[in-house]
Amino acid sequence: MKETYIKQAVEYAKELLAIPSPTGYTAEATKYLMKTLQDMGYNPIETTKGAVQVRLGGEGTDGLLLASHVDTLGAMVRAVKSSGRLRVSPIGGLNPSNTETETVWVRTHCGKLYEGTLQLENASVHVNAKLKETVRTWDNVEVVLDEPVKNAQQVKELGIEAGNFVFVEPRTKITQSGYIKSRFLDDKLSAAILLALAKYIKDQNLTPKNPLYLNFTTFEEVGHGGAANLPQDIQEFISVDMGCVGDDLNCDETMVSICAMDSSGPSHYQTVSKLVETAKREQVRYAVDVYPFYGSDADAALRSGAPVRHCVIGPGVYASHGYERSHVQAVEATLQLLAGYVDFCPAD
Ligand SMILES: [Zn+2]
Repeated sequence: MKETYIKQAVEYAKELLAIPSPTGYTAEATKYLMKTLQDMGYNPIETTKGAVQVRLGGEGTDGLLLASHVDTLGAMVRAVKSSGRLRVSPIGGLNPSNTETETVWVRTHCGKLYEGTLQLENASVHVNAKLKETVRTWDNVEVVLDEPVKNAQQVKELGIEAGNFVFVEPRTKITQSGYIKSRFLDDKLSAAILLALAKYIKDQNLTPKNPLYLNFTTFEEVGHGGAANLPQDIQEFISVDMGCVGDDLNCDETMVSICAMDSSGPSHYQTVSKLVETAKREQVRYAVDVYPFYGSDADAALRSGAPVRHCVIGPGVYASHGYERSHVQAVEATLQLLAGYVDFCPAD
């Protein structure tokens, strides 16, 4: 895989990560995907649920769909407290322990953004003797707005109310050593990799032998992203989602992970075997792992009744659903594996 496509994937990732898109508020991410794919010369479609699907070519009925999701964790205002602070409900698995002290933006129904910070109640260490031992929950971690508000009425006058989305600052950073640090690498890093794959296929004038689709879903974090709009001519569904990194696992942040089994059970053996064969042949940095607590769009597709072979692969991501970390080498490995996995027609 040429260096340019790896760099391009990282650029796409930076752009996507800069667009807030908690599940339920993904229209701006959808717009970005539509435009980026159209600019490449493709004809993507936007589904009713806001997913973006594009057919990259191919013929027959033995199609492959590669899915990643652009919805992320986030929160929603649940109540404006009498103190003028906001109680929030998490969207997806947003964790109060690792989100405390993060900058957020509250979006009013009129589209105005107000900055604030997620803080434990009574967050001054010089005042609160129990600060260290308090277990953080969404009942005691609140949004402190950076506005001169002291009661609920003043907050409501800003237009802030229950049902407003809360965007969490991703804090995207790419180090000199190639580490990619950001919230929501799950799964925007993979979405960026799929965009780079589409660009690679177009630039190199490659024609997939069998139908090849990219599907960018918008409801993965709440469990039903991959459940709808599946093309009739696919036989295989591969979720390109974050690869797990942690105790007992072989993958690290420089590899592509192949998931042999997640919380819903084993991946399809034929797909796993072909992925491993491809990784070996293409000399990709890879690991095969069992993910203890994990679900993906592929699981959602199967639950919706899709008769497909399935698997999950993706760049190794550490500290998932927190301040996540991956590496440019994992981007390269994932791209290499995908480009090697797809069968292309021989060049004329
Ligand atoms: Zn994910």
